[in-house]
Amino acid sequence: MLDMEKLGRMGTECGFTHVAPLDVSTITLLQDVRDMCAANTCGQYGKNWCCPPGVGEIPELEERVRKYKKGILVQTVGELEDSMDWEGMMEAEQQHKKSFNKMHRLLEEEYPDLLAIGSGTCTRCKECTYPDQPCRFPNNTFGSMEAYGMLVSEVCKKNDLAYNYGPKTTSYTACFLID
Ligand code: SF4
Repeated sequence: MLDMEKLGRMGTECGFTHVAPLDVSTITLLQDVRDMCAANTCGQYGKNWCCPPGVGEIPELEERVRKYKKGILVQTVGELEDSMDWEGMMEAEQQHKKSFNKMHRLLEEEYPDLLAIGSGTCTRCKECTYPDQPCRFPNNTFGSMEAYGMLVSEVCKKNDLAYNYGPKTTSYTACFLID
């Protein structure tokens, strides 16, 4: 049984705006989501160890995910001036990544076998080594929920967490599979 009060407090201290319990059985890994990655609208498909196809194929990712029953969803919701406020979006994304790394370090002390699944591509190195050399930091980098094939809005909905906080906001969601 996870101590949600403690995890919620830890998440808030790390900078997240929301922390919610995650029932891993509500997660489905969908080929359709991976196909959206393959459309390459973000320009990262096939360019990073944390994005498809480098992150692994669905059966391999399923095997990783199904080792767990419980976890948490973590979210950063940022305020925007308007829908074109790219700077505001980038700021919220940076804040989310910072909070995620901090939370990962803290959780790892207590749950060394956890599986951390982030949001967005890995931006740790100026240029990713994919596919010519192994990842430079394999123990400190994370595939995103989308890269795993998760429809993030559905995972949030099934776990009673909002996904869209209305106009003039942006949100980033990640998760930690713990138990
Ligand atoms: S840590 Fe560097 S090499 Fe590894 S996935 Fe991230 S950008 Fe690529």
